[in-house]
Amino acid sequence: MSMLPVADALGKVLAGVAPLGSEQVSVAAAHGRVLAEDVASRLTQPPADVSAMDGYAVRAEDVAKTPVDLEQIGESAAGDGFDGTVGSGQAARIFTGAPVPPGADAIVIQEDTESDGTRITVKKTVAAGRYIRPAGLDFKVGDVLLPAGRLVSARDISLASAMNIPWLRVVRKPRIAILSTGNELVMPGEPLGRNQIISSNSLGLGALVTAMGGEPINLGIAGDTAESLKSFLEGVKSADMLVTIGGASVGDYDLVKTVLGEEGLDITFSTVAMRPGKPLIFGRIHGCPMLGLPGNPVSAGVTSVLFLRPAIEVMLGLNRGHRPPEAAVLGRDLDANDHRQDYLRSKLTIGDSGDLTVTPFERQDSSMLALFAAADCLAIRPPNAAPAKAGDRIEIIRLEWSTVGI
Ligand code: AMP
Ligand code: MG
Repeated sequence: MSMLPVADALGKVLAGVAPLGSEQVSVAAAHGRVLAEDVASRLTQPPADVSAMDGYAVRAEDVAKTPVDLEQIGESAAGDGFDGTVGSGQAARIFTGAPVPPGADAIVIQEDTESDGTRITVKKTVAAGRYIRPAGLDFKVGDVLLPAGRLVSARDISLASAMNIPWLRVVRKPRIAILSTGNELVMPGEPLGRNQIISSNSLGLGALVTAMGGEPINLGIAGDTAESLKSFLEGVKSADMLVTIGGASVGDYDLVKTVLGEEGLDITFSTVAMRPGKPLIFGRIHGCPMLGLPGNPVSAGVTSVLFLRPAIEVMLGLNRGHRPPEAAVLGRDLDANDHRQDYLRSKLTIGDSGDLTVTPFERQDSSMLALFAAADCLAIRPPNAAPAKAGDRIEIIRLEWSTVGI
């Protein structure tokens, strides 16, 4: 199978996954979830004309000329209105958020008055409507303020609460089953045999899935035998996507394609023209989409950012798969590129001119997790790019992002 360009591979992955169903959660638990349906307000806010200030509810015509004395006839506090009507020459004491009594059409702020308890002196005139928040200023009953497909921010939780919505219907979190493969791997903290290494990606990818709005299911580590690999396939049944790590290449122990092939894996592609991440598999097994990531930890991380994140977004109904990359100014010269698209682990700084400056690390080995962790972004070098000079513009993908809005 020939090497696919990155954009074509991404298109195939996005076409191979579909939006998921929904579930009901309490409004407090909806942060970072995607709304599955339009949310309309159950009430009007504010429910009545209310005062925006502490002061006195008056008839504007009474205070057209000041100073003027008015008779205080009652009080309207937040949560407890005044039942009377403000007549000519009268005023009602009022506090912020309290309903404006009938008859009054303006608020004189406390600072512009003097009071002896029963009579007040208004020292400054106000126009009709001043310091009154009319009923429905914020929103009205039936208004759809939170549309389906919206990622719920912390502010949205305040808004939904104000709309008197205690529950929200959200898209179910994509369940991503993660299976590491390799005889050499053990989990962090487990006893290390001779020539064994830690499976660094199982937990890291789980965290990535969580950050992307999914729910990781860590299946564990399969050995490099057909029997071992097959024994883990049971886990696919409860998953929306299977992600395997390692065994995706052409070595003698790279069993993912052959063994899962015997189990009915239908492969869409298995090599992508990119670096890191050339041996990347996408297909479908037992009805479940499968992404076979390369074993090298940085390759697995980069391909997750490029393919798993957009796939999860489609499942969530976010449809942001083709977000435009940002651009930055190169901090150093780069050689010409070959036929694979490069994703260079890089530092981001603000240069002297105030420009966002991207400086790729000298070393780009796909096993080097320390540099991957130190990177702020990936700088994109298209296939066959000419040599680039410091100061040229180059596209980047940030490694720091939050799916969850504040
Ligand atoms: P593979 O594609 O299985 O040949 O893996 C390529 C390289 O990545 C090998 O050096 C593996 O030891 C390493 N590798 C594979 N899976 C993991 C993992 N989960 N964590 C850390 N290294 C891994
Ligand atoms: Mg392996």
